[in-house]
Amino acid sequence: MADSNEPDDGAKDEAQTALCDLCGTVISDGTEWYAVVPDSSSIHAVDAKFDGKRVVVGCTKEHLAELVEQYEHRPFVQSELWAGKIARAVEKHRGRISKEVLAGETGLTPEQIAEGVAWENLDYLRWRQQFGDDGPEPTW
Ligand SMILES: [Zn+2]
Repeated sequence: MADSNEPDDGAKDEAQTALCDLCGTVISDGTEWYAVVPDSSSIHAVDAKFDGKRVVVGCTKEHLAELVEQYEHRPFVQSELWAGKIARAVEKHRGRISKEVLAGETGLTPEQIAEGVAWENLDYLRWRQQFGDDGPEPTW
C-alpha cells in the first residue's frame, strides 16, 4: 500500500478515486467532500497523533454531513483508543514487549494500559455474546 495519504498533502493535481462512506458511490472527478471525525476505534498504522480520528468521505455535502452526524452519536471510548494503541505497540514488537517499553511507546500510564487491556477483553466477551459459538473462532 502506497503511503500517500498525508493529510496536509497539498498536491492534489490528479483526482483520485474515492468512495462515499455513506452510499458507496465512486467519485473519480475530485468532487468528494472530506471531514475528520472523532472515532476511538480508529488507530493510525504508525503515527499516534492521528489516533482517534477518522477521515470520512462523502459524495455530496449532504452525505458528508450525515456521516459526521453518525460519528457524533458514536460514543468516544477512551479505553477503546488505549486498547488500539496497545495493540499497535504489541504488534510492532511481535508480541514481545516489556511494560516499560509499552508505556513509553503508547504514552499511557500503567492504569490506562490496564484499562485498555480490560476493554479488549470486554470487547471479546461482547463478541462472544453476540455471535456465540456459531461465530468464527478467534485465532488466539
Ligand atoms: Zn454518497
